[in-house]
Amino acid sequence: MRSFARLLRTREWTNGTFARSFTGWGGIVSCEWQDGEMTVPLIELNDGNSIPQLGFGVFKVDPEETERIVSDALEVGYRHLDTAMIYGNEQGVGNAIKASGIPREEIFITTKLWNSDQGTDSARDAMDLSLEKLGLDYVDLYLIHWPRPDLDRYLETWLTMEEIKAEGKTRSIGVSNFHRPHLEKILAGSETVPAVNQIELHPAFAQRDLRAYGAELGMRIEAWGPLGQGKYDLFGETALKTAAATHDVSPAQVAIRWHLQNGIIVFPKSNSRERMAENFDVFGFELSADEMASIDAIDRDQRVGSNPDEATF
Ligand code: NAD
Repeated sequence: MRSFARLLRTREWTNGTFARSFTGWGGIVSCEWQDGEMTVPLIELNDGNSIPQLGFGVFKVDPEETERIVSDALEVGYRHLDTAMIYGNEQGVGNAIKASGIPREEIFITTKLWNSDQGTDSARDAMDLSLEKLGLDYVDLYLIHWPRPDLDRYLETWLTMEEIKAEGKTRSIGVSNFHRPHLEKILAGSETVPAVNQIELHPAFAQRDLRAYGAELGMRIEAWGPLGQGKYDLFGETALKTAAATHDVSPAQVAIRWHLQNGIIVFPKSNSRERMAENFDVFGFELSADEMASIDAIDRDQRVGSNPDEATF
């Protein structure tokens, strides 16, 4: 499997090829190998850093099993890992990275600041604790996990995130579960547009307005629950089943491909190595405009998780 670092280098000399091949993907910076083989695209963030568009998420991965599961994911080829303080498994993620022997700069790591750690001093302490658990000097992306508007500390927390970035403890900063008013408050009170907003997003909850607002701001969208967390029968939807049969792939691969072709950053989770490999094998087919439109039509504003305006955990 080609590495993230090689992807970065390669992008420079294949950029022209990519631009011709993928203008339909929303101007994403990515690459195509000289021999024509496709692999994980890189997306450029508004701070100049790049993120592999497909990664591996570890929500609800048992801390005891995390090292083994993340080691499997790295062997399969994933080079982008999405964890959070609240998942309780940062240590396992860090152990797997260390055990892999893969150079640090070839793996993109996101972690998130938990809600009870919002605030100036507590955010600083939380960043330091996450780095300690991960066994790293820096993460690639640090996110405010939820806005918790009732606490009214997310702007103060964001200003601290700017300082944490300036100190080199994270290369990029962003938010998660932020609605437009939360973003507007940050934009009005700080110097930095979040590099990403990580939100619940899957075909039945397509978040068109937040995606459009992100595009307006130059802020990338990351999907959590990209497969609907298994909480509704996404894979039974006719649009997915039909496209899967046409391309001889699984409905899960079609769903991931729908995210990718929409320019969304995505990191499905699975404990099974077989499914990790399946979810990574999504660069050998392309959904047609009609197939994309039929999956778009599944949208019915169906959340599977909490509403950020109301969440008080
Ligand atoms: P997901 O949509 O990735 O669904 C995971 C479920 O799908 C698991 O039950 C898994 O067994 C199943 N699955 C995976 N691959 C499959 C396949 N090929 N075929 C059939 N079933 C398959 O849900 P998620 O894990 O909640 O979301 C992905 C990541 O997003 C998380 O791991 C985490 O990193 C992040 N996340 C962030 C937030 C947030 O608030 N920021 C919330 C939830 C998740």
